[in-house]
Amino acid sequence: MTRGNMHLGRLCPYADTCPVYNGEVEGLKKPGYLIKNVFCNRGMKGWKNCKRFNLLEENKKVTKTTTPYDAE
Ligand code: SF4
Repeated sequence: MTRGNMHLGRLCPYADTCPVYNGEVEGLKKPGYLIKNVFCNRGMKGWKNCKRFNLLEENKKVTKTTTPYDAE
């Protein structure tokens, strides 16, 4: 997957496997629909504000519970 191609759509390229996107993380600071609107479905503008997205882009470690807000 090349960086250029994966940023073409508006939905985050990690959405399929993202536990945050798929509602598998409990105790998020905001409701799931809001997180999707603010981060996941917003194209690069939203993704770049997501900590999880940025860590993945940098090939850094994320855990199952790494949220858009926290690195934990
Ligand atoms: S929470 Fe972050 S990494 Fe997960 S789908 Fe949304 S923007 Fe992508």
